[in-house]
Amino acid sequence: MTTHTAIETLGDLRDHAMSLSWYCADERCARLLGLTLARAIELFGADQVYIGWQPTGIKCAECGCRETTMIVQPVPPGYAIPGR
Ligand SMILES: [Zn+2]
Repeated sequence: MTTHTAIETLGDLRDHAMSLSWYCADERCARLLGLTLARAIELFGADQVYIGWQPTGIKCAECGCRETTMIVQPVPPGYAIPGR
């Protein structure tokens, strides 16, 4: 019997010590947004599926864009993530 572990939700990412960061989807801006995985879990719950998801109410403070690009990284939050 095999065990398949799917990493589909914000809580799964946290439990696997992965990080999720959000960037402004406007390619001329593309700044790192302040939303963190821990904050997203507070706001949307650990059961939120992140695949194909656009968090609502998140807005780029720089250009006002409401679309985000999510980047999943298999490292803990803050680990060697280059600043913008
Ligand atoms: Zn922006």
